[in-house]
Amino acid sequence: MSSITLENIRKSYGGNGPAAISNLSMEIGASEFLCLLGPSGCGKTTTLRMIAGLEHPTDGRILVDGKAIVSVADGIFTVPEKRNMGLVFQNYALWPHMTIRENVSFGLTLRKTPAAERDAIVNQVMTKLGIERYADRYPAQLSGGQQQRVALARMLALSPSVILLDEPLSNLDAKLRLEMRAELKRIHAEAGSTIVFVTHDQWEAMTLATTIAVMSEGALQQVGTPDDIYERP
Ligand code: ADP
Ligand code: ADP
Repeated sequence: MSSITLENIRKSYGGNGPAAISNLSMEIGASEFLCLLGPSGCGKTTTLRMIAGLEHPTDGRILVDGKAIVSVADGIFTVPEKRNMGLVFQNYALWPHMTIRENVSFGLTLRKTPAAERDAIVNQVMTKLGIERYADRYPAQLSGGQQQRVALARMLALSPSVILLDEPLSNLDAKLRLEMRAELKRIHAEAGSTIVFVTHDQWEAMTLATTIAVMSEGALQQVGTPDDIYERP
């Protein structure tokens, strides 16, 4: 339920190589389900991390609901969970010293959700993702696919208004992947969350997106509905 504006973004990680993002401007409407689509290395993850405030653009700025976002580089970074942003990144970024239950509960604890309500939500999302039996384990004791489910559960527990996903279903088996796609579509339809979903899978983008942004070598190539992009003669 938030609009996101990227204005003339350039991002260089330094060094001699080309910039990761050369000149990117884009308006992501509130309640859009945007898929960022493109081959490995084209800048999708960098774009998502800048929207999350985890990387600072070298030039340009990013606005959420018209307000410039505060990023790590500003020194007063607040965790995305507090800004009502939900993230599932490729490395899962689970807190290694917390159990699975603590990981999934953490955002709600930060928000001071009453314990009974928090526990009910946490149990519900853990059941949905089939991870309730791992509740007392630590992330390092789980497989990649199990950790991905924990990361999804942690995000779902917060009902965030902005959801940022980087290949979030890549390690799931086919059945769970289909279920999670349906779940994301349901959240989008019911909660109206703004979703930015990074994928290199054209078919996945077509089945999920309201808008597809095709990226290539650090720039936007095309933006449109799935029909605009794939059924134009
Ligand atoms: P992707 O599948 O999106 O290309 P990678 O597996 O390449 O992701 O990258 C995983 C992580 O490594 C990301 O956090 C990314 O920022 C970081 N990374 C990617 N390329 C480099 C690089 N050349 N130098 C340092 N870190 C990198
Ligand atoms: P994608 O997500 O589309 O695979 P990335 O955003 O991960 O693309 O990477 C875009 C470019 O930036 C690549 O050339 C990658 O090597 C480089 N890159 C990504 N993260 C880093 C990093 N932390 N340090 C240096 N270079 C990076």
